[in-house]
Amino acid sequence: MAKYAMAIDLNKCIGCYNCQVACKDEHVYNAFPPVAAEQPAFGQFWLSIEEREQVWNPSHIKVTYIPKPCQHCGDAPCAKAAKNGAIYKREDGIVIIDPEKAAGQKDLVASCPYGSIYLNEEKGLPQKCTFCAHLVDDGWQEPRCAQSCPMSCMYFGDVEDPESKISKFLAANQAEAFHPEYGTKPNVYYVGLPKPHLSGTVRLAEGNECAADVTVTLTGPDGAKRTATTDCFGDFDFKNAPRGACQIAYELAGYATQSSPIVLDKEITFLGEIQLSR
Ligand code: SF4
Ligand code: SF4
Ligand code: SF4
Repeated sequence: MAKYAMAIDLNKCIGCYNCQVACKDEHVYNAFPPVAAEQPAFGQFWLSIEEREQVWNPSHIKVTYIPKPCQHCGDAPCAKAAKNGAIYKREDGIVIIDPEKAAGQKDLVASCPYGSIYLNEEKGLPQKCTFCAHLVDDGWQEPRCAQSCPMSCMYFGDVEDPESKISKFLAANQAEAFHPEYGTKPNVYYVGLPKPHLSGTVRLAEGNECAADVTVTLTGPDGAKRTATTDCFGDFDFKNAPRGACQIAYELAGYATQSSPIVLDKEITFLGEIQLSR
């Protein structure tokens, strides 16, 4: 039995929204029982797109587009929250909301930490992306969103087949989950997710001077170390810092080494001024 997943290469995504439009084209006014009722025409984007802006300085702004369908989680909190088996995971890994059993279970919208379940107000029905299960069951190689992408950013297929498009992509790239801290074992993988930007300024307590050439070591949650050196203004930065609980240390010959824990959970963190003493 195939195990379906999706991988999205954000380095190639130009934010054209074709994938979102294709999802609408496939599902608005079209019901595909038993896997989906009609998607409403307005709002209710089963594939939403987050736009993340990173401003490193006024002339260096990067926007990353993050297309976000249901993550078809391996440990899906929505399925646990549903009554009467209204949300279930198929053997092929696709998570489905049963449009009949889920009717009236409005609270299911809040059960998804990714915000991927929408309430169809007219039907009182929670709904979401189906990985286009009706097409997959018909032998399609990829869902409508992936098929419509002009940049071929989206890879879909059987992750248990080493020859599949997605398996080859995952083998060649370092893909990661979006919000792994949710602990839901998502089956949508990303390459190029924006990383936190961490910066600060080191000064010498004595005389309050800028501290140049300080070695700043950032140790990530996995123990991996990154280093930066302060410039003549005492400034340092890490553009691709890891997320989570880290440790940061400042070393300069003749001064006491300082070390402290930090949690990187925002896009941009400025630590302010750090004072070094002898
Ligand atoms: S992303 Fe949300 S709706 Fe989709 S399987 Fe995971 S918890 Fe359920
Ligand atoms: S897989 Fe299908 S249902 Fe899911 S976002 Fe893509 S087009 Fe929409
Ligand atoms: S269609 Fe492709 S390039 Fe356009 S927003 Fe979607 S993933 Fe990005």
